[in-house]
Amino acid sequence: MAMMPGAVNRLLANQARQGRMKSYDAVSLHTMVGSLAGTDGMFQKDGTVGTESHFGVGEHGEIYQWVDTAYTADANYLGSGHVISIETADYGGSFGRWNTNGDNVPYWNAKQIVSIVKIIVWACKTHNIPIRQMSSVRDRGIGYHAMGVPNNGLPNSLKGTRYQWSKYPGKVCPGRKRISQVPSIIRLAQGGANTATEPAEPKKEGILGMSKYLYSPVYKAAQKLARYKWKTLAVGKNAWTILTCGGDPHMTQVQVTVEGLKPSETIQLRFVVASYKRGSKTIIDGYYPKDERPGSTGSTFITHTQIGSSSKGKNGRSNRLRVQVWTNSKTAKITTVQTKSLKG
Ligand SMILES: [Zn+2]
Repeated sequence: MAMMPGAVNRLLANQARQGRMKSYDAVSLHTMVGSLAGTDGMFQKDGTVGTESHFGVGEHGEIYQWVDTAYTADANYLGSGHVISIETADYGGSFGRWNTNGDNVPYWNAKQIVSIVKIIVWACKTHNIPIRQMSSVRDRGIGYHAMGVPNNGLPNSLKGTRYQWSKYPGKVCPGRKRISQVPSIIRLAQGGANTATEPAEPKKEGILGMSKYLYSPVYKAAQKLARYKWKTLAVGKNAWTILTCGGDPHMTQVQVTVEGLKPSETIQLRFVVASYKRGSKTIIDGYYPKDERPGSTGSTFITHTQIGSSSKGKNGRSNRLRVQVWTNSKTAKITTVQTKSLKG
């Protein structure tokens, strides 16, 4: 038996007919093109006869376990005997309705990210999977469905092997926006794995204790970037502040769409703490680590996530979390920005 503590037990009928896992090589992320309730209904109706995944994450971060990880789940086709699968909600509710033809899956929200991180930390610890991004479908670690899809991430030479993760060529699961969030998720899971090894009652610190969810509307405006210079990004009309710091822990994510960033060029993002006082010069006096990402043909979707807890300002000044961007591209401009935060 391998059941994740804290997951809702939604085990499907006749698990044993699935056969046991042959090895534990990877955790693979998927998207449902549906809601948790809809997917649960479909899986429960078919039991383990149809396709199913080990875990499901809902819009509000609910975690369902459909298959004991001692047994296989079919979501990764020929790789199913080696891969733990996580399906995630993406449609209806706060995700709205979107055109499911093509690559339009919306970003994972902050509550989903926290739940995905918890599953990864548990699964990797329980089954000895390294918490790192898979560099290819033959690597071990954390990956996503499209890596093993023919005419997408799967090299032709691996068709018909255990690395073929789908019957359907060209499948984009979990979509470009969600794929852009995978590096941040892994970084959070690597942090989480360290706290999980502490003995006795773990304190509800960091992301595990956060419950207040803040997010800004999507800000659509073309923002030109300064080549080779860090520039603070507007997150709304005449607005640069994401959070006013008060010393509480927070997990903050910024999601940007970039146009004109070529595959040979890069963009970097970092959060900064700006000390602000009306009528006096704003001073940047704290820098979080930066993340660098390459461009892609067409729009590039980039997300950057940070856990932090900056102190309240002193002497009438307030400390404000902002985000800065750097690029080596002449043509890149940012067209949409959205920020989301979870606070303690
Ligand atoms: Zn999938």
